[in-house]
Amino acid sequence: MYSLIQKLATTHSLMVDEYEFLVANRNDDSAKLLRNYAVKVRREIYGQDVFVRGLIEISSFCRNDCLYCGLRRSNSHCERYRLTPDEIIACSDEGYELGFRTFVLQGGEDSYFTDDVLGGIVRAIKARHSDCAVTLSMGERSRESYEFLRVCGADRYLLRHETASPEHYAKLHPPEMSYDNRMKCLHELRELGYAVGCGFMVGSPYQTVKDIARDLKFIEEFRPEMCGIGPFIPHKDTPFHDYPSGTLELTCYLLSVIRLIYPPVLLPATTALGTINPVGREMGIMSGANVVMPNLSPVGVRKKYALYDNKICTGEESAQCRECLNNRMRKIGYEIVTSRGDMKRAV
Ligand code: SAH
Repeated sequence: MYSLIQKLATTHSLMVDEYEFLVANRNDDSAKLLRNYAVKVRREIYGQDVFVRGLIEISSFCRNDCLYCGLRRSNSHCERYRLTPDEIIACSDEGYELGFRTFVLQGGEDSYFTDDVLGGIVRAIKARHSDCAVTLSMGERSRESYEFLRVCGADRYLLRHETASPEHYAKLHPPEMSYDNRMKCLHELRELGYAVGCGFMVGSPYQTVKDIARDLKFIEEFRPEMCGIGPFIPHKDTPFHDYPSGTLELTCYLLSVIRLIYPPVLLPATTALGTINPVGREMGIMSGANVVMPNLSPVGVRKKYALYDNKICTGEESAQCRECLNNRMRKIGYEIVTSRGDMKRAV
């Protein structure tokens, strides 16, 4: 175990079987060692800075039926909403005042957001805030669509791969969705010059240690600019309502491993991590994460964007969310900075 961790910290690469061993045989000592290496390498690149992204949840309509997600089309209890272009732009204005320099527009796959509509919103935000990055997280679209949105000014795209095992992918998604298309989208986004984010849920139903090892190998090979991992949390109105949540312990362990696989990667301590534990996001940062993504959505819609149960930060105003995270980060010796927070390439 000790020599595997040394190997990872120095070569940033392991074989799939070695990743599997690292996860299957983890203990407090290996977690501590990985965490220490991860924090050290992150400090060398990013100091004590934590980057912040303003998350705007633009629609809860979705044409997909992912088995884990509360927004799935089969969920008749989900309250559907979509923000108007003006509302989305107003969120970015408010966020700008609060010091955000990256806006993430996320939503279900809602046919209302055609290329023209979404592209118009991206253009408007970039025109008003030219020093900001716009990140999209709107699911699978055509290459032409990604290309058009890139031309409109979108800088980054988050599309979690969800699992790097085709068999596992099929257990989390309906038959009409495919692992191959998900991967194709990720490669197209990269070719089009986006900064790309992949990622997966920790502890999703049917996930094995081997699956996680494959996820890690995929991340090693794909070298995403961003990687979103957070615990799976059941949603009461989905087929997976009775499955347990992923754990804080394993999520933090994997955050450390991913930091060592690709030291400059932008790695968020996710809202899901803050949902399963009151200090989950702090633990994530202390394990190697360097990004937080507070909610900038209008308070009135936050509860409706329910990917999973008991999501935090659904009652506060954006300014309160920002203030709360500033304090949380300061308490553990980190500082949220006002910057676009691009990945630093030179290590
Ligand atoms: N429609 C977009 C955005 C999906 S929501 C897309 O397809 O990319 C963003 C992420 O939330 C998903 O990629 C998934 O990994 C995560 N998510 C969905 N349901 C979840 C749940 N029950 N628990 C934890 N994370 C979940």
